[in-house]
Amino acid sequence: MPNLTDKTALVTGASRGIGQAIAERLARAGALVAVHYGTSAEAAERVVAGIRAEGGRAFAVRAELGPSEGVDTLFAGLEAQLEEHTGSSRLDILVNNAGLMGTAQPEEITGEWFDRMMAVNAKAPLFVIQRALSLIPDHGRIINISSGLTRFAAPEQVTYAMTKGALEQITLHFARHLGKRRITVNTVAPGSTDNGSALFRIPEVREAMSQLSAFGEVADPSAIADVVAFLASSDARWITGAFVDSSGGTLLG
Ligand code: NAP
Repeated sequence: MPNLTDKTALVTGASRGIGQAIAERLARAGALVAVHYGTSAEAAERVVAGIRAEGGRAFAVRAELGPSEGVDTLFAGLEAQLEEHTGSSRLDILVNNAGLMGTAQPEEITGEWFDRMMAVNAKAPLFVIQRALSLIPDHGRIINISSGLTRFAAPEQVTYAMTKGALEQITLHFARHLGKRRITVNTVAPGSTDNGSALFRIPEVREAMSQLSAFGEVADPSAIADVVAFLASSDARWITGAFVDSSGGTLLG
């Protein structure tokens, strides 16, 4: 198991699903984890309580990402609580996980929906990283959660895939930008992952999503969290700018 003792981490969108699993995994490895959420305060507090019940360290931080002021709100809460818990605002690990999913046939995409998807999935991570840079020390970690969908065609997902394609560009360019400081920046790309939503309880839908993976199953969020924990660890120090396919072989076709 990676050892993240004395590290601090921010996981955006950690009130449920993949983000929750990442927060729990990093905490189990010893990190103090900021469990970020947008609106689901109770769910985020449950995640924090669960981590603490297992002997881990975590706190919740709220900010709606999308509106420009969201990044200020996030860092005001984050820095204050990091100071309170550690006496410093150092942030070792940043996981950009919060994201909006959704489909619209190409003929039905509206400008308003497109702008919202871009704002949450691509613009917010860029400015979260920009803002985090003064807090992240040399040898820090940035991990962006994209999707296998940037590698195959699914017309009703074009908007979502565009936002994730933009996120992957952040990985590429910031990996070069931050290399001298030995800060690694990587993309993790899940396939269909059971995030607890009702969709995964509909047998036909679950079966169709399962068949996309070479393993014939949808992923458990813990499978993605393990990959993130590895990239966050010192074992992954020589990996930067990578696209880490965590889709259970979905991209094999
Ligand atoms: P999820 O269950 O829908 O959870 C999304 C999380 O992001 C929640 O904690 C939510 O918090 C937060 N969030 C969403 N919009 C926000 C906003 N505008 N401001 C602040 N927080 C916001 O998602 P998931 O399925 O775990 O997916 C996590 C990441 O993996 C996403 O980036 C997604 O694109 C990617 N992904 C998922 C799958 C999959 O099959 N599940 C596959 C590939 C990639 P609140 O409820 O509090 O707003």
